[in-house]
Amino acid sequence: MLNWRKPVINTLLKVTGSTVPAKVDFIKSIEYLPREQIELIQKKNLKKLLLHAGKNCPYYTKVLSESGVIQNDQVRLDNFNQIPFLTKDIIRKEFNNIVSKKTVAKKTWTDTSGGSTGVPVKLLKDNFFWDMGIASHIFYNHMIGKKIGEKEIKLWGSERDTLTGKETLSFRLKNWLYNRKLLNSFRMTDSDMHKFVEAFNTIKPKSVWCYIESIYELARFVKTNSLTAHPPEAIIATAGTITEPVKQLVEEVFQTKVYNQYGSREVGCVAAECVKQEGLHIFEFSQMLEVIDENNQEVQPGVVGENVITTLYNHSFPLIRYRIGDTSIKKDGWCSCGRKLKLLKTVTGRVSDHFKSQDGAIIHGEYFTHLFYDRPWIKKFQVVQNDYNNIDVYIVQSDQKNDADIKDIKDKIRHVLGNQCITNFKFVNEILASDSGKYRYTISKLSHEK
Ligand SMILES: [Zn+2]
Repeated sequence: MLNWRKPVINTLLKVTGSTVPAKVDFIKSIEYLPREQIELIQKKNLKKLLLHAGKNCPYYTKVLSESGVIQNDQVRLDNFNQIPFLTKDIIRKEFNNIVSKKTVAKKTWTDTSGGSTGVPVKLLKDNFFWDMGIASHIFYNHMIGKKIGEKEIKLWGSERDTLTGKETLSFRLKNWLYNRKLLNSFRMTDSDMHKFVEAFNTIKPKSVWCYIESIYELARFVKTNSLTAHPPEAIIATAGTITEPVKQLVEEVFQTKVYNQYGSREVGCVAAECVKQEGLHIFEFSQMLEVIDENNQEVQPGVVGENVITTLYNHSFPLIRYRIGDTSIKKDGWCSCGRKLKLLKTVTGRVSDHFKSQDGAIIHGEYFTHLFYDRPWIKKFQVVQNDYNNIDVYIVQSDQKNDADIKDIKDKIRHVLGNQCITNFKFVNEILASDSGKYRYTISKLSHEK
């Protein structure tokens, strides 16, 4: 059948003034360029960002000058690694000084994100950053052979659907236009999972976009109940650490390949596997990724290091050398697909447990993360499920606690775990990382009893 969606989507994007089509063209124009040219383009974009930030964002005016990166209106990239890292603490304290004083975008808005670290942080985003996110997504689909408008299932968390049972009309329209079916993975009961399997078999999606933990639970459900689900051509899994046994089970049950995509709400898509699966291509056209050791030096390939990201497309709120809290391992050499975008071997450090309710529903860890967004007095959190009806919430405060927020969080936890569930708030000075050194924002003592 003729795919009418692609031209309609492209036309709609163009008439609404979106820069997505131009950004997709830009990315596609560089994907197969020789390495030196890709580096030149990245450096050019980085210089532009640094000059802009140095001139228009008071926080960067200070640090870029002190680190010797901007001298007499010139950018000295050789001093780039002298720029102090941007932490969530700094963003919280310096928010107004990071915002660009010069208006550069049509539209800006604030967005709170927790990433994998359990430390919520408020950022300012603009339409160019947003468009680059969509363009990266389209490019990513193209890398694994999926075209705009081909059938897709998105097994993803929807707080709105979980709490109200319904998405907004514009959200549903957009999904219809993109030929995408959203299956809400924030709370999955057995009956939900039966419906999800049915959706696979009736929709017959070409691809599935999902949280790795959610597709894993669905795969276990299919296998345990001896069901069959239509095999998509690709499963794109994100927002989690993909271990080999998890990947194997999902691939076995859905008879397809699982592709690893790494990104976050704060910075967009950072890296992703192509069909050759020889590593995750770093999206160097939209950001710069450094992987550093404890002495703040770039690590060698094969060694775990901490990710430091500079986004090249959010001039309204530049993130320069941002310590996002994830870790990864770089890979030497090039992928046989021919793209000269550098590779990551793997991304680690994102650990979230599923919670379980007494009625057997599985609730994704991200549901709990979202409960702590936009509550500025909460500096850091961790949610621990001790038993079906017993939850501890650890909080490190940055300000006076807010009783209305606490009530709201308790209500929303009861909404997914049941009315009998008791949530205890514990106010502490620090929340420590686990033995492995990874910080876990959701821990369920039940999910380890499989
Ligand atoms: Zn490749």
